[in-house]
Parts: sequence; structure tokens; C-alpha cells
Amino acid sequence: MPTGHDIEHDTAKISSEYECLQCGRLVEAETHPGECSNCGGNFQNRAKSLE
Ligand SMILES: [Zn+2]
Repeated sequence: MPTGHDIEHDTAKISSEYECLQCGRLVEAETHPGECSNCGGNFQNRAKSLE
């Protein structure tokens, strides 16, 4: 159950990378960007840190 564990970063703003499911556009944002401004598709949060 790896979900919801504490993140030990002290940065005030933590941005995540989102990928549009339709056109594959990548957007970095602190919160979910909503719908893609390019094609209107939905974004999916990509797991960035693979350590
Ligand atoms: Zn798109």
C-alpha cells in the first residue's frame, strides 16, 4: 500500500507532471491542469520519481 505516504521534500511548491491522454502533451503543474488546451483531453498524473 504505497499510496499516501509522506513526502520528505521541503519545497513550498511541488509540481507534478501530467500527460494528456489524447495528444500526449506534457504539462508540469502543482495541481491538476484540468483539460488539455491543445485538444481538450484529460490529463493523467505521471509518477515522476522512480528511485
Ligand atoms: Zn491534449
